[in-house]
Amino acid sequence: MKDKQVEKLIKAEDKRQKSVVNLIASENYVSRDVLAALGSTLTNKYAEGYPGRRYYGGNEIIDKVEQLCIDRALKLFKLKNTDWHVNAQLLSGSPANFALYSALVPLGEKIMGMKLTSGGHLTHGHPLSMTGKLWKPVQFELGGESEVIDYDALMEIAKKEKPAIIVAGFTAYPRTVDFKKFREIADACGAILHVDMSHFAGLVAGGAYPSPFPHADSVMTTTHKSLRGPRQALLFVKKDERGFDKKLDKMVIPGLFGGPHENNIAAVAIALNEASKPEFKKYAKQVVKNAQTLAKELKKLGWHIISGGTDSHLILMDTWMDGAGVSGSDASKKLEKAGIIVNMNTIPGDKRSVMDPSGIRLGTCAETTRGRKEKDMIKIAQKMDKILRGK
Ligand SMILES: *Cc1c(COP(=O)(O)O)cnc(C)c1O
Repeated sequence: MKDKQVEKLIKAEDKRQKSVVNLIASENYVSRDVLAALGSTLTNKYAEGYPGRRYYGGNEIIDKVEQLCIDRALKLFKLKNTDWHVNAQLLSGSPANFALYSALVPLGEKIMGMKLTSGGHLTHGHPLSMTGKLWKPVQFELGGESEVIDYDALMEIAKKEKPAIIVAGFTAYPRTVDFKKFREIADACGAILHVDMSHFAGLVAGGAYPSPFPHADSVMTTTHKSLRGPRQALLFVKKDERGFDKKLDKMVIPGLFGGPHENNIAAVAIALNEASKPEFKKYAKQVVKNAQTLAKELKKLGWHIISGGTDSHLILMDTWMDGAGVSGSDASKKLEKAGIIVNMNTIPGDKRSVMDPSGIRLGTCAETTRGRKEKDMIKIAQKMDKILRGK
């Protein structure tokens, strides 16, 4: 690199990434091929429009790149192009959810989603997010002692509030989601069922988590979490008489965006192909095994694990324990000093603030990519315990 200033920073970050234990649940390490596509000359090309229908000339190769990405997305999740439509141009998860609501939900109608503090995402109707300002949020929380979704309570809320869309799929929920129950709830009030599988898409691809596709009307995923691709998002909508496919494509361009990032789209295509390999199935299973081992060991050491464990890559850990432990912010700082990177997180029914909540969120996608197994998780849990107890 000629720019030594930036090169030095990139090298330093590369070294940092290699030297820490990364338990950030939304991060992963991409392959060399993904990096190569991201840094390719595809970034030079303007391609407003869609394959075969562009505003600019010179897109005959770019068309093939984007179509390949779309075809691989359908194939990976075992979908037929007669039933599902894919838009591959979404720049990240948040703009993807925004595009979907903009396309399918009239402004001012109700979006029903899980509260941020219970594990939902900002873009599921949080009052500080534009999704909670342009549409009316109907936010639900986790059911009491069990710390899992109370589907009967959701059914009641849905029937009373009659939201136009219900969002299932969360950022800090460790358990499997019953998509069939969500379908019944959506049907009971005539809502669209949108599944945000950003966190667990890689596990779905690897057969380690239930697929939402048999039940959803639309599915969004980021591609940079468990799916192990570049920062980007994919939107899938059902193809039927409602015309969601056409509405979505028109909202993405000209409604919201200009030229797609075709270098990213090529990198997504690579990641989707990598995720279709038998090794990725093994990877996804190992991710879950590692998370379950980490949760079990932390529990054994006396920590409160939300919902008692995990079915995914993600663990929500109560570090505060009603004042007997440390706050989430202190926990994350202490762990970082010892080279373990996590993020602070609210826990269901949290009485502390979002900026210094009662817990931390852990995930095993990144460390599993680096080849870590159960025995490593036990060691990490023991080290975390020592640090948090100040031993
Ligand atoms: C990460 C995430 C998003 C947002 O993705 P960005 O790429 O950070 O904008 C949206 N929804 C869920 C459930 C997520 O986990």
